[in-house]
Amino acid sequence: MITPGLDIAAYCQQHRVKFVRKDRSCMMRFFGWMFGLFGFDFMRTAWTTIGRTVYFPISGPRREWIAILPSIRPTIEHELIHVEQYRKLWHMHSLLYVIGFPLPFLFAWYRWRSEREAYLHQIRHYGYSVTAVVDTLWYTYGWCWPRSRMLRWFYQMSEFRKMSTTSSSDPGLEPSLTDFVTEEPAFGAPTPPPDPPPSQRVS
Ligand SMILES: [Zn+2]
Repeated sequence: MITPGLDIAAYCQQHRVKFVRKDRSCMMRFFGWMFGLFGFDFMRTAWTTIGRTVYFPISGPRREWIAILPSIRPTIEHELIHVEQYRKLWHMHSLLYVIGFPLPFLFAWYRWRSEREAYLHQIRHYGYSVTAVVDTLWYTYGWCWPRSRMLRWFYQMSEFRKMSTTSSSDPGLEPSLTDFVTEEPAFGAPTPPPDPPPSQRVS
């Protein structure tokens, strides 16, 4: 189970989790080209987990020991939740994620289910904004689920119910997409990664 107290380095060693920079993967470069056609900077802004491999953006740290960096811990935990999902369903997880199931868009239940678990973790433990997360899920995960339903679910499941006043402008808790990027060399900002959208988004 992924928790804020988890020894990430030990977990990664035990479960053979690898970290790979996106530009070192042909598959990621292909996805980058594809998403670039739609104006999405997949290589610089999105973290992507496929199986036990976490691909980190080229704007992020260069080293593989990023797993132990506290500044990107929320992002790493998000990605490790996808590793846990993979460990339960193996390649079925990746397949269902890509196709969304039952539909690729709007009612992509499996993609929504997979991401909501990871983002709820960030909302609960790291104070991410519900509305910002829903915006991210809506715009960069292939409109995976109706926005009103996503908002309702997160507010019900999180402790931010009181903020359920909509709008993407919850004070102080509003990470934009740029917050999802870890800038080099500062290994900076806490980063909820919008991992890649639908097709790519193989998690
Ligand atoms: Zn994710």
